Amino acid sequence: MSMIEVSRLTKEYTMGHNVVQALKGVSLSIEEGDFVAIMGPSGSGKSTLMQILGLLDVPSDGSYRLLDREVSGLSEDELAILRRDKVGFIFQQFNLLPRMSAVENVALPLLYSKKEQGLEGSLKLLEQVGLGSRADHQPNELSGGQQQRVAIARSLVNRPRLIFADEPTGNLDSKSEIEIMETLHRLNDQGITIVIVTHAEEIGQQAKRLIRMRDGEIQSDVRNAPLPNISKSSSQESTPPTRAEGIDWKEYSEFFKQGMKTLWASKVRTFLSMLGILIGVAAVVTMLALGTGAQKAVEEQLTSLGSNLLVLRPGAYRIGGIMQESSVTRLTPEDATAIRGLPNVSAVVTVVNGKAQATYQNKNWNTQVQGTTPSYPSMHAAEPVIGRFFTEDEEQKRARVAVIGVTVARELFGEASPLGEMIKLNKVIFQVIGVLPEKGASGFRDQDDIIIIPTSTAMRRLFGKTYVDNIEIQAANAESTALVEKMTLDIMRERKRIPPSRGEDAFTIRNMADIQAALSATSKTMSMLLASIAAISLVVGGIGIMNIMLVSVTERTKEIGLRKAIGAKRSDILLQFLIESIAISAFGGLIGVILGCAASILLSQVAGWAVSISIESILVSFFFSAAIGVAFGIYPARKASLRHPIEALRYE
Ligand code: ADP
Repeated sequence: MSMIEVSRLTKEYTMGHNVVQALKGVSLSIEEGDFVAIMGPSGSGKSTLMQILGLLDVPSDGSYRLLDREVSGLSEDELAILRRDKVGFIFQQFNLLPRMSAVENVALPLLYSKKEQGLEGSLKLLEQVGLGSRADHQPNELSGGQQQRVAIARSLVNRPRLIFADEPTGNLDSKSEIEIMETLHRLNDQGITIVIVTHAEEIGQQAKRLIRMRDGEIQSDVRNAPLPNISKSSSQESTPPTRAEGIDWKEYSEFFKQGMKTLWASKVRTFLSMLGILIGVAAVVTMLALGTGAQKAVEEQLTSLGSNLLVLRPGAYRIGGIMQESSVTRLTPEDATAIRGLPNVSAVVTVVNGKAQATYQNKNWNTQVQGTTPSYPSMHAAEPVIGRFFTEDEEQKRARVAVIGVTVARELFGEASPLGEMIKLNKVIFQVIGVLPEKGASGFRDQDDIIIIPTSTAMRRLFGKTYVDNIEIQAANAESTALVEKMTLDIMRERKRIPPSRGEDAFTIRNMADIQAALSATSKTMSMLLASIAAISLVVGGIGIMNIMLVSVTERTKEIGLRKAIGAKRSDILLQFLIESIAISAFGGLIGVILGCAASILLSQVAGWAVSISIESILVSFFFSAAIGVAFGIYPARKASLRHPIEALRYE
């Protein structure tokens, strides 16, 4: 039985409208143990024949039996498996992978053949080719001849019975040429069949059999030395044990290690491609922390106020479906007095809101000003910690007195006591009579950044309003809240002469539970909105990674070709590039999580915002970023895996 049997092999290349017949029906058989040289002028079809024999390409027509098996119709992956198990390759350009030591280059095919041999076996092979002392050198630290000997050791690592060498000495000086040829002869003496393509006549003459080609056909076929007698036993060498098929963690970890090396080799580029994901994850984590913090703060605040508080506001009063810009439903202090007279009402305050510029000496501070009535501290748990609140008398007299929040106190007075000092609010002079207790932040709002003055003063002296913005009513107890709500609406409709048919939306009255639900819905929407904006930046980051990976695939086309030539299947290449893109995005995500937590903590410390970092948000954004690595890595990785081995190897 011959090792190789081909009959009427043809190969056509279509280039536009032209069809090139590279092989025109080649028939040939090669016996085990032979040393065959193929020669011929450029373009005669030598490489094409060699690539088909070496299972790197398939013929257009004809039959090819390798080791008694028909292989001309096999798929790319089936060819890859045969290639890695049965044949070794030596190329003119050596094709060693940079950034890997000599011994790692030799061991590379084992990654795909899943053979347990480790580095010792590879080291032994390096010693065989006389490079034992150079095992740790990288390819660029070796001479051309030495690199080619590393490549020979690599071609042997899976113990093939057949080695193909395509112009192995084409790039070498004559001394190296002699060394390489000696090595090949030695291998042939050990029983390995060798097929070599060459231009050099003296190399052709060294072979046991010399085949000359011309125009895609065999021109002559001469035997120069007899075929050795190969006993069956010598060719049946024991092969190293093979790892089990299925999930191969060893392969994954090896891909991961190699990927890390590649990424580390271009640190700046890796970091830049990570940046999008990093910023995105940091933003998502921070936004979610702020959102949840705000929500919690609002809830805490409202529950502390009790459930028997009602807030009355003017509603959207419509006549004939048109919203009225009228003063009909505006609330006045007199309305508050009327409500105060209802049964089961324990306290009523009016509220006027506005903004003002507060000035003390040369300091300015823009703040919120709230006009209210003396019951405010008891209803809002806001008895001044220093000084006092204003009285009913001061409210009546439109006194220019102010109770200030701690933020205002700090901004205007620093460490000094504000009590009794004169400040200006929009150029009106007020006397500070008290400081409110510290309330902390509620979401994005600092509740201590406030000045409270009597309602009458706010309306007449500061904002020039004739009405109040809302009226807060405290029911005597939780049970009477609903009743108070109804009576308030009734009395208001009566006072404003609203016809019953239009009474529905003349006023809105809310109890605390309503307000709480509305506020937490708002802050939830807000934080979701912010988080989704941040999530968009994650997607943009993913596109960045895809871009870089596409560039990387193009740059490493030759490497892909080499890996395929030594037996990598499509799935192996896919996995390799996918692991790289996942590594980039997951690592970016990790740094992003750390940055996001740091930013949240910083915001709560420095700006005083309420934040709450949740484990879920961290896990979700981390895994989301890893998923982005998969989603955006799959296209470049697939592109890499689909490269044809020959075209990839030829790529410059
Ligand atoms: P040799 O190795 O003897 O120089 P080749 O086998 O490379 O010859 O090429 C044989 C013929 O096939 C040449 O005419 C060449 O131009 C053509 N050929 C080889 N590869 C391709 C290809 N990928 N696409 C188109 N034509 C090709």
